[in-house]
Amino acid sequence: MAKIIEQVKDMLPRDADVTNISFEGANIVMYSKNKEFFLDNRGAIKKIVSTIKKRVELRCDPSIPIAIEKAEKEIRKIIPKEAGKLNVIFDPQRSQVIIEAEKPGIAIGKSGENLKIIKSKVYWVPLVKRIPSIRSKLIEKIRNVLYENDDYRKKFLHKIGERIYGPKRKEGKTNYARVTFLGASRQVGRSAFLLQTDESKILLDCGVNVAAKGQDQYPYMDVSELKIEELDAVVLSHAHLDHCGLIPLLFKYGYRGPVYCTAPTRDVAALLCLDMITIGNKENRGALYSSSDVKEMVKHTVILNYEEVSDISPDIRLTFYNAGHTLGSSMCHFHIGEGLHNFMYTGDMNFETSNLLAPAVTRFPRLETLMIEGTYGGKDDVTATRQESEDYLLNIIRTTIGRGGKVLLPVLGVGRSQEIMVIVERAIREGKLPQIPVFVQGMVWDVTAIHTAYPDFFNNKVKQAIFHKNENPFLSKIFKHVGSQKEMKQVMEETGPCIVMATSGMMTGGASVEYFKNLGENPKNSLVLTSYQGEGSLGRRLQHGEKEIMFMEGSKQMPVKVKMDIYSIHGFTGHSDRNQLMNFVGRATPRPKKLIVVHGEIGKVLDFASSAHKAYRMETTAPKNLETIRLV
Ligand SMILES: [Zn+2]
Repeated sequence: MAKIIEQVKDMLPRDADVTNISFEGANIVMYSKNKEFFLDNRGAIKKIVSTIKKRVELRCDPSIPIAIEKAEKEIRKIIPKEAGKLNVIFDPQRSQVIIEAEKPGIAIGKSGENLKIIKSKVYWVPLVKRIPSIRSKLIEKIRNVLYENDDYRKKFLHKIGERIYGPKRKEGKTNYARVTFLGASRQVGRSAFLLQTDESKILLDCGVNVAAKGQDQYPYMDVSELKIEELDAVVLSHAHLDHCGLIPLLFKYGYRGPVYCTAPTRDVAALLCLDMITIGNKENRGALYSSSDVKEMVKHTVILNYEEVSDISPDIRLTFYNAGHTLGSSMCHFHIGEGLHNFMYTGDMNFETSNLLAPAVTRFPRLETLMIEGTYGGKDDVTATRQESEDYLLNIIRTTIGRGGKVLLPVLGVGRSQEIMVIVERAIREGKLPQIPVFVQGMVWDVTAIHTAYPDFFNNKVKQAIFHKNENPFLSKIFKHVGSQKEMKQVMEETGPCIVMATSGMMTGGASVEYFKNLGENPKNSLVLTSYQGEGSLGRRLQHGEKEIMFMEGSKQMPVKVKMDIYSIHGFTGHSDRNQLMNFVGRATPRPKKLIVVHGEIGKVLDFASSAHKAYRMETTAPKNLETIRLV
């Protein structure tokens, strides 16, 4: 048994009657048979926490809580009707009850009073979660995977704790830390980095480059130092395929360790990976992995909130900070050894307040090495402000609607789509745009539904609107879900002026291309591209002014004469531009001693690294794939 459990045991009062102490990841959970102690431990737990400096939780021994049926009745009596719909799910293994509510704040009650009453009446420990205000089958499925595997999860989480607190593999103190660059170095796409110390191996992100072909799609997974069975953890910065797309493949190859991320990242990552399987099968390329590998990924996720410090191996402590890039996107801060080194990987990040999110955080307890993305790190990468871009977009919409046309917005499913929804909803509400319907196609709708499950991750303005004024922009009646082919046809043929949002953002396939075929020849319509357009994509060709596009319809060629207006807006990016990157490095507190630039084309990362060196007199580098850098 781990030493820390012995230590906790010795500190417990005699009457605690604790029957079992186990780990849940880095947390310690105790089960007691003494009801009075469970309800009031007279500061005993607080004392233990302040001594061992770990999270400790007290629950009842599984023989104590009252029977499930009776407990559910009692819980439904205690929680006020105003909390909306309730789902009550019991986890007898852990003496916990999960209460899913439409309005979790009301379910919890002022300073948690309802939860206290529930505990004292039924002896189950209540946990409250939000039912998304737009129904999401995916969230229901994910929650079911977790609930159905309670028993497995209990053992799995205990095993993580045993590794963290158990005997070390190597004797003595941690002496070194290094990072190996397996992808996304001097390029964008296929992010994967291996962080190693003499004790631990952590994989940061594991993505796929969807724009590349053959081997170049995947990170260098065959290097000798990356052995799946030796990995302590996978840490996922955010849910974009170039960061998360290959994690299910690790599970296909037998990985059964934890994947650390935030809750929205877990849900959106699962959705994107499942979508990648569907697309692969549709286009007859086949899929790299199956939906059961995605399920394994979900089963093995460990959720952390922003700024919640957690041990993830015997010598590494992880903290996520808001990265401002997408809902739940994180900068990953690693405290290595006992004060040996502090390393932070930004993932993708935006140092700007967007219409949805707060800017990336700049204050950290300690920081020696900063590994930063450099997508727009080139000296000419200065984008228009969000306000300018917003005004431009609203102008295009107004003009198009005014002449009786439709606006087609090809979008990435995640991030920008939801930001544009917020902008349009506000403009209509404030009378800056006429009351027109906004048709939201398939995947964009699913991702939006996930957004409504996690309002805590929005910036303060959006959060206030949702919590205090009941003005959730995503629930506005202007948004109409388009699911079937029939509904899509109705939008094209029977509807008047409107806005249509559909994937893919680069028009490499999907509904956006279908809409283009239908809307492209009418000069009243407009097309607005808001995301990066890859070389060779239809979006890029339209940007270059091609006047006729050929499509294959069965064996026949079908031309579309481009008569609709084509616009590009760059200001809605989820990445920092050059100035914001420089400002972020300058404002990071404490100032890092070393800067590593990744995730950018070669010219941009080299230029940014050299400019940051000149501006801040710090050691900077932009490594190549397969290089290893020693941090300490
Ligand atoms: Zn990203």
